This record gives sequence, structure tokens and C-alpha cells, in this order.
Amino acid sequence: MSVGNHDVLLFDLDGVVYIGADIVPGAREAITSVLEQGARCVYVTNNASRTAFEVAQHLRQLGIPASDADVVTSSMAAASMIAALVPTGEVLAVGGEGVKAALRERGFTPVSKYSDSVVAVMQGFGQDVGWADLAEATFAVRAGLPWIATNLDSTFPSARGIAPGNGALVQVVAQTSGRVPDGVAGKPEPALLIEAIRRTGAKRPLMIGDRLDTDIAAGSRLGIPTLLVATGVSTLELGRNAVGDQRPTFMSSDLTCLLPNKSWIAVT
Ligand SMILES: [Mg+2]
Repeated sequence: MSVGNHDVLLFDLDGVVYIGADIVPGAREAITSVLEQGARCVYVTNNASRTAFEVAQHLRQLGIPASDADVVTSSMAAASMIAALVPTGEVLAVGGEGVKAALRERGFTPVSKYSDSVVAVMQGFGQDVGWADLAEATFAVRAGLPWIATNLDSTFPSARGIAPGNGALVQVVAQTSGRVPDGVAGKPEPALLIEAIRRTGAKRPLMIGDRLDTDIAAGSRLGIPTLLVATGVSTLELGRNAVGDQRPTFMSSDLTCLLPNKSWIAVT
């Protein structure tokens, strides 16, 4: 198999393109080559706190030619899920600027306090989310409003170690409301990839990721081919032994398999 079989490559970011602040060796050359070969590169991230502009800016600083339209976040997918439930109005936005920007893009008005005019709740990651925000979310969720979570990652890798992720904060609201979210946008749910495919018009997408339980599972659930690269969390051995929706279609040690006259191996 090679890049020529696909029109859009969907890349997970952390562990695939960069690790923390540093680019993964070979990623820049591989992505530049994919673009030269005529396929589009799109970046799909569960991190809801940053806007597409901020993520694209980070990629450009790493030397990767990405435009804002090449980035799809779990906030953008979650806002689409809310748009399918309620047409317009005020949405209680828990999370960083990425959450608010995605709601505005969809024509909603993000607000930080629950009132009778709020029509839905969107809960995503933000480093400034605190008790007051979780209390407002709990009021709205207990009132029965639609509640969409951007993602359920329980941990967040910070420079000082593992910190609580959005899933842990969603659990707080779930425990205090007795409900679970009406929908989740991020991987391993397929909504983030559906949003990326909708925005790019991809006909033959390939999902590339470093985690079997999120990236590969999301692609499998959507029924698109997947490529595991071993530069992040999951090893090739884990990929070879994976079953069910965590079993990748293809594997490679890193992104250099995307260079011309290179290829990746099928998991049989
Ligand atoms: Mg990753």
C-alpha cells in the first residue's frame, strides 16, 4: 500500500507528528512528501482547548505547512453534534478558547453561566476550568439539557507530569447529576473523524495514529483503514496482537513509510 491509494491522510498529533514541544524525527519530511504526492494532510486532535488556528500555528512553527483548515478538533466535532440537537441559542461552554470558538463557528453563543436561555452544554478541556464551571454545568445537566463532551481522555500529559484530563472533569458532572453525556466527539468515538471527512470531502481517507485504543479504534468504528505508527504509545507488537476495533489495518515503525517508493505492512 502507498499514499496514492488515499486522498486524505488523517493524522493524530501527539506521538505521531510531535511529542510535547518536539517534532517526531522524520515527520516533517514525510508530511511534505505526502503533500507533493498530491494527498491532503489533516490533523485530528482530541484536545479541545486550543483553536484550529493555534494548532496550525504550532505545526507551522515546527516547519509543517498546515493551514487552519487542515486542523479539526474535538471541539469542532462536538459543536456539530450540538447543532444536530438544537438549532441555535446560548450554549454553556465549559473549557478553553477552542470550545468557545467552535461554538461561535456553528452560530451558537457560548456563555459561562447557566440560565433559562441556555439550550445545551458543551464540556471540553481547559486549563482554567474550575469548581464554578463544573457547578454551572451540573445545574444545566440536572435541568435535562443536551450535554456533549468533546472527549473522555481521563488524563492530560503536562510538562510536570500526568494531570486530570477532560474525562475526569466530565466524571465530576456525571456523578453529581446522575447522567452520562448524550454524546462524545473525540476518539475512540468516530465523530471527530466524521467531522474531518465532512470538512475535507475525503473519499479514501486513512487514519494514522499512535494509540490502538483511541486512534485505531475510532477509524475501525468508522470503517476506514488505519495505520499504526510506533512513535508514541502503542508498540508494533501490541498492534500485531490487537483484536476487534483496536486491530490496525497497517503498521509502520514511523511516518517515513509515507515517502515515495516506501510502503507499510498490512496486518494480516
Ligand atoms: Mg497520539
